[in-house]
Amino acid sequence: MKDETKIINSGRNIQFTHRAINPIVQRTSSIIFNSIAQKKHAAKNYKNGELFYGRYGTLSHFSLQKSMIELENGSGCMLFPCGTAAITHTIFAFITYGDHILITESAYAPTQNFCRFLLNKMNVHTTWFHSSISNNITNLIQHNTKLIILESPGSITMEVQDIPTLIQATRKKKPDIIILLDNTWSSGVFLKALDIGVDISIQSGTKYIIGHSDGMMGTAVSNARCWNTLQEQSYLMGQTIDADTAYIAARGLRTLYVRLKQHEKTGLHLAQWLNNHPKVDRVNHPALPSCQGHKYFIRDFTGSSGLFSFILKKRLTDKQLSNFLDNMKYFKMAYSWGGFESLITTMQIEELNSIRPINKLNFTGTLIRIHAGLEHQEDLIQDLSDGLNRI
Ligand SMILES: *Cc1c(COP(=O)(O)O)cnc(C)c1O
Repeated sequence: MKDETKIINSGRNIQFTHRAINPIVQRTSSIIFNSIAQKKHAAKNYKNGELFYGRYGTLSHFSLQKSMIELENGSGCMLFPCGTAAITHTIFAFITYGDHILITESAYAPTQNFCRFLLNKMNVHTTWFHSSISNNITNLIQHNTKLIILESPGSITMEVQDIPTLIQATRKKKPDIIILLDNTWSSGVFLKALDIGVDISIQSGTKYIIGHSDGMMGTAVSNARCWNTLQEQSYLMGQTIDADTAYIAARGLRTLYVRLKQHEKTGLHLAQWLNNHPKVDRVNHPALPSCQGHKYFIRDFTGSSGLFSFILKKRLTDKQLSNFLDNMKYFKMAYSWGGFESLITTMQIEELNSIRPINKLNFTGTLIRIHAGLEHQEDLIQDLSDGLNRI
């Protein structure tokens, strides 16, 4: 079954829909048992999708979990209140005092800070590596290395990683290492992380899955070998989402594919236009050859989503940044991304380098990040063009 068909049909079994089109919103804390026998059965089977207690999920959650497992070819899916919780609790599920982890320098800043501050305090130490690492990752693996955290493309700077080579080399040296990927950018559609050897594919469902900027949640889809640990540990930490959020996430999933294709088309159009703009030095879009790791993008991904960045030739002053960004017509200035609306934000190099302990970035201009929304591409180009002229 192709992805387009899969996301329409998945999680819509009759036990979840009660004969409606969509899964029911089952808001509850308590589940009523009709008999001691039923209570006993539920206590034994709550980890396998049997109703037991609200925190372990209701039909609304089970439906969404089933959809995510099918989309990302996993064995199980945990739901978390936001993407950050999905990342931190998944890491936490597998580490103990004295362990060592490896993380890419291009990872989302809060992911890095969790390692830098919270894990460090618990005697779990982190080694950072450059996003271009491949089989030479083995030089960094220690006897106590438990986890590798990948993110591709990297946050803000969009470097694509050589994931299959890195995984192959790791498995050869120390097969029990757990490999996590923040797969939010591809949303599990354009990169099938588990198929290329990742153990757990994590997403901020806040972005493309919910897709309408009106909710927050996170997902972690695991392969068979990591599933029991992930599920048990996340339950111990009390991780869950409410039924309404599970519903809007499942609803968002139905249109995920068409939305992504449109984000892709518009994003590419804007990226190419910016690439030819006289004020632009470089465009960091995985589908353009100017992006680090473009060849891995071509090899491993089946498409691109709407998030990318570019670097201006000049470093803008605060006044110039205001001239550019304060008066945009369609691009809203905001963090996050993945919704129907176009967003724009900026970062100077020292902010980016503050989370890169080893290899500092080296460019002179100001970085701008764009999420291409679902507006008409010509309106967006006009907006960007006017903004760049106002500098
Ligand atoms: C937004 C984001 C997160 C965090 O998600 P929240 O739902 O905001 O906690 C994690 N990873 C990436 C790549 C993101 O863009």
